[in-house]
Amino acid sequence: MENKDIIRQIKLYGSILELNGENSFKVRSYQNAVFNLERVKQPLKNLSLSELEKLEGIGKAIAAKIDEANQKGVFHQLQEILEITPKGVVEMLNIDGLGVKKVQTLWKEHGLESPEQLLDACENNQIATLKGFGEKTQENIRQSLIFFKSTSGKVRYPEAEFWAYNIKEYLQNINKSWQIEIVGAVRRQLEITDIIHLLVSTSEEEAVFKALDEADFLEKTLPSPSLFAWHGLIQDNKLKLVVRTCLPNRLVSEVFIHSASSAHLAYRALSQEKSLLQLAQSAVFENESAIYNAVELPYIEPEMREGYQELELAKEGKLPQLLKTEDIKGIIHAHSTYSDGKNTLEEMAKACKEAGYEYLGITDHSQTAVYANGLKDYTVKKQQEEIDKLNEKLAPFKIFKGIESDILGDGSLDYPENILQSFDFVIASVHSSLKMDIEKATQRLIKAIENPYTTMLGHPTGRILLRREGYPIDYEQIIEACAKHNVVIEINASPYRLDLDWRWVGLALKKGVKISINPDAHAAAGIEDVRFGVGIGRKGGLTAAQTVNALPLAEFEAFLKERKK
Ligand SMILES: [Zn+2]
Ligand SMILES: [Zn+2]
Repeated sequence: MENKDIIRQIKLYGSILELNGENSFKVRSYQNAVFNLERVKQPLKNLSLSELEKLEGIGKAIAAKIDEANQKGVFHQLQEILEITPKGVVEMLNIDGLGVKKVQTLWKEHGLESPEQLLDACENNQIATLKGFGEKTQENIRQSLIFFKSTSGKVRYPEAEFWAYNIKEYLQNINKSWQIEIVGAVRRQLEITDIIHLLVSTSEEEAVFKALDEADFLEKTLPSPSLFAWHGLIQDNKLKLVVRTCLPNRLVSEVFIHSASSAHLAYRALSQEKSLLQLAQSAVFENESAIYNAVELPYIEPEMREGYQELELAKEGKLPQLLKTEDIKGIIHAHSTYSDGKNTLEEMAKACKEAGYEYLGITDHSQTAVYANGLKDYTVKKQQEEIDKLNEKLAPFKIFKGIESDILGDGSLDYPENILQSFDFVIASVHSSLKMDIEKATQRLIKAIENPYTTMLGHPTGRILLRREGYPIDYEQIIEACAKHNVVIEINASPYRLDLDWRWVGLALKKGVKISINPDAHAAAGIEDVRFGVGIGRKGGLTAAQTVNALPLAEFEAFLKERKK
């Protein structure tokens, strides 16, 4: 079990204790434990009970629970309390803007036991009149609930990818001769998915379905064979799974058909009778390029097959040579223990160097982000002195002095000019007062983009996929402003954000705006998230030439110098 899973259990247990009216001293000890566990670097699963007890802020009782979770997957007190707490009430804890206290009031005083009941109550205007709620809170809760409803049964890309590869491996172990392909949204690297598609090329259809029937982590939902496919759910997360089989000579066509969006498949050249779909259905092809060539198009990479802009580009012969993960030369946007990161600056730099990168642009949080231990002016100075020393030690690897400056409510940056001046580059991001209408949000961002010290715009909408929608922005105006002021837009590569959304990358590129693929790493392991950002860039048609951190060190340095003038 990973640290984050254990932390989730401890956090949940503390919240449910609070929901059930347990004394505040006890509740606080769990919140405190979560705070401390988040700072533990070594894997908790490797620690013995006595080692766990020695961790800061972890008493005997909590250490025993972690130890039991390590052995059994979950500690029994959590299981017991979950049995006596309505499931819907626990679900309500996940709703943005509610918090334990409000959920407790809604449940204990007003008998609401599920998100559905709560949504009903909001829609009948019953929440606005409750003490401590009001009209505005009711509307916020209602919007969160609608968003929550729209996300159920969906997962972010890494989880979809994890299951797709696991199921493939499970099947492959049963029969080495089956050729198994991951198709659908996972092949297109879509940021959110509710269904996993696999294709197995074999004549032994029944054996494939039998293997799936017998997998203890799957649940069959339709009798097989229905349309030559096995339909089911992954028990863990209720994600839908469809596994199809086909004969080997049909594999190329079937992989093609089940990888692209329907808008892409509907494409038909003027001179032809058949759409891409009909063509693939009716003939045997040697490879996917041959299918495209049959409609006089060049090969289109799977990530782009959304029916979004790729068919136009292909027709005009303007398909880009897409960025690859290997093209990324430096890591931009990372946090260290100076603010809320888990690894020290030196550890982060060494991790980047060892992973083969030429530079790191460290960007801890700025002073207003108190919750994230944002840097005071004297800490900025201290960090920059450490960077100078490390740069001597780690050369030719280089650390650039950056900051992730909060964009304050009025759009200004978080430090006076003399401090801003000391950075090699500045990422400007919004982290607070996220409830804004489109006008307010757009103006706030534009003010920050106009600031001569802003090098990059960080996670433009503040969204957290499947958890928080993000504030609305006028993308066209924001992109226009970035083009005018030569500000780079980041694709935040954290799989929770993937913001700038890929649907807007094309417009940014057209306007000449450069992109940076930024992992926003809060620990050394987070550096690897870069690949998710590359996937999103590829979906938007991004090339290496348009990506600033695909520049080798000397050129990146020159780019920042030029930018600073
Ligand atoms: Zn941020
Ligand atoms: Zn950040």
